Amino acid sequence: MPKLGNPTNTIEVLRKYHFVFQKKYGQNFLIDSNILNNIVDTADITKDDFVIEIGPGIGSMTQYLAEAAKEVYAVEIDRALIPILQDTLAEYDNVTIINEDILKVDLKKLAEEKNGGKPVKIVANLPYYITTPIIMGIFESRVPVESITIMVQKEVAERMQVGPGTKDYGALSLAVQFYARPFIAMIVPPTCFMPQPKVGSAVIKLIRHEEKPVQVKDDAFMFSLIRASFNQRRKTLVNGLQNASGLQLEKKDIVSALEEMNLSATVRGETLTLEQFAQLSNILYKG
Ligand code: SAM
Repeated sequence: MPKLGNPTNTIEVLRKYHFVFQKKYGQNFLIDSNILNNIVDTADITKDDFVIEIGPGIGSMTQYLAEAAKEVYAVEIDRALIPILQDTLAEYDNVTIINEDILKVDLKKLAEEKNGGKPVKIVANLPYYITTPIIMGIFESRVPVESITIMVQKEVAERMQVGPGTKDYGALSLAVQFYARPFIAMIVPPTCFMPQPKVGSAVIKLIRHEEKPVQVKDDAFMFSLIRASFNQRRKTLVNGLQNASGLQLEKKDIVSALEEMNLSATVRGETLTLEQFAQLSNILYKG
């Protein structure tokens, strides 16, 4: 089977199987071999690596991953793609295809059972409609992961990288930066996909911190604070936190915590750094 990462071979496979694109699954297949090579280079895949690919589609990127890695597990939700993948990946004996929703797969268990608990590398041209739950799920469920190299919507990649004082700063920026060091490796135009998405895309690599940048008594509590602060972006931090039903915080405790941190009672959550959120959560945590 020739490499798929070009328009001619992609169209040929799609025709052969009478494949119908499912919009609900965010299907935009890569048809540019330079971009595919660059993604695998950015992910820094070697013959020692166990790779999990999310959403292989017709296998265009999987072919490159299979050649570079020791082993590839590819999780694809669309049942119609499974016979296609069995065909396009037939010559690789180090690829396992799993027909499942990635949000339902226990990746921690998979890494433990198939890679002896050693860190895996995750690589994907993600379905954009579930980018955030996929990334948060990987980090929060403590999957042993060394790096995550993903194609996402350009704006989302930017959101992961920014700090306070920018309009894109939010819960996703803080969560990603708590767990990993992000960097945007390349910007990818819609013309590199079939069908073309309506938005620009970017490849971002998240390299997991060996040691977290801040010490927190309870990660989940800090993220509840962060979510509550950004849920009501235009409110002051005090109002945002005291209105959040799950937190049950009293106004006087929040004001006194801010005082202890030398912050004004009218400060907005969007101006706080990760260090400040960590400090605030350590003061307010009553575990
Ligand atoms: N990797 C292929 C490529 O680059 O050409 C396809 C990428 S396409 C943007 C996203 C893929 O993810 C599609 O094949 C889609 O069917 C699959 N997908 C969508 N939702 C999924 C889910 N919840 N779990 C697993 N795969 C999913």
